[in-house]
Amino acid sequence: MQRDEQIFELIQEEHERQLHGLELIASENFVSNQVMEAAGSVLTNKYAEGYPGKRYYGGCEVVDVVEQIAIDRAKTLFNAEYVNVQPHSGSQANTAVFAACLKPGDTILGFDLSHGGHLTHGSPVNFSGKLYNPVFYGVKKETGIIDYNHVEEVAKKERPKLIIAGASAYSRDMDFKRFREIADEVGAILMADISHPAGLIAKGILNDPLPHCHIVTTTTHKTLRGPRGGMIMMGKDFENPFGLKLKSGKLKKMSTLLNSAVFPGNQGGPLEHIIAAKAIAFGEALTDDFMHYTLQVKKNAKAMAEAFVAKGYHIISDGTDNHMMLIDLRNKDISGKEAEEALVKADITVNKNMVPFDDKSPFVTSGIRVGTPAITTRGLKEDDMAAIVDLIDEVIINHQDEDKLKDVASKVNAMMGDKPLFS
Ligand code: PLP
Repeated sequence: MQRDEQIFELIQEEHERQLHGLELIASENFVSNQVMEAAGSVLTNKYAEGYPGKRYYGGCEVVDVVEQIAIDRAKTLFNAEYVNVQPHSGSQANTAVFAACLKPGDTILGFDLSHGGHLTHGSPVNFSGKLYNPVFYGVKKETGIIDYNHVEEVAKKERPKLIIAGASAYSRDMDFKRFREIADEVGAILMADISHPAGLIAKGILNDPLPHCHIVTTTTHKTLRGPRGGMIMMGKDFENPFGLKLKSGKLKKMSTLLNSAVFPGNQGGPLEHIIAAKAIAFGEALTDDFMHYTLQVKKNAKAMAEAFVAKGYHIISDGTDNHMMLIDLRNKDISGKEAEEALVKADITVNKNMVPFDDKSPFVTSGIRVGTPAITTRGLKEDDMAAIVDLIDEVIINHQDEDKLKDVASKVNAMMGDKPLFS
């Protein structure tokens, strides 16, 4: 068969872009060669509807073992009694949990998107805001930190069936114990979505949601540094509180409801090549090297936040506990959109992001979100962070000066060009 040069040339172009640029998108990372090898393996050819040992297709002996290894490694990594590695993405993991726990029209309480939440936590443009009745909690204006008393107030008033603790743009640790107290007060199920900080949580350097939350979802491709995908976990399985019974009359376990919400509820065949890549990434995450990696991610983020503050930038909540920070650019006379576009011209990638109490639209925004997972994988250390902030500052000050942006791009290329994507 003729090689599809058109696509392979584009893949090469993207490879060059990743190699020579500074990747500061907080939700991105670079996977190892073995993760990539598994993701591009013959397992992509296999249909395997069902679960290990209970499939709707023949020939699943090998993928059964692969999927079970992925489940077992994730259980060890997160100290979980239940894991489902089949969700194709973080959104699909959340969709399945909602389907298992809610009926259309039920109230859900999530973190406001403009304060740092995710689309799937109740945004009106997403299934979660269309199918369910979303209400929100947010951060305190003065501190940029979640106001747990406000969470409790809204929960008591709105009586949600499900509370979601999790964020896409929140630089502080979360108090899952307090969330659970609130959930128990109103009889809600508590779900943590740890898509962003999962890698740091796995290594114990942030609060662990598994002892406190009924259900935990995550993506596998952010700080966890695996292939793009999702996962659902429970610290302890439990009988469903909705009165759903087996033929025997016993209450169904929550694991049964979650498994059937993933398949056949929301997905068909699992992506066994991606599940193999997840298994490899979980194996990598179990090593001491990954411990060093996550500690470095956090050190880098702290050093970067301090360098931004020293240059007069306003970081929401004045710092970071994790891998990222949200920068309010309103005192710099530039929108998030303009900053993102100018930075791309200098081969620096970030994403524009709304900041709490933003007066600009989600397409324009007043802020940018910056994270260190990807540059840490490429081997950068805390001493490199001030130089990166200097480059970003140069772009923001000179965002309309094309020559200056080209000059910064060549500095970025010199800094990154000799570093492998995965070190
Ligand atoms: N949940 C959170 C908190 C996220 O940040 C994201 C992705 O950005 C998702 C869910 C969705 O993940 P995916 O893009 O894999 O659907």
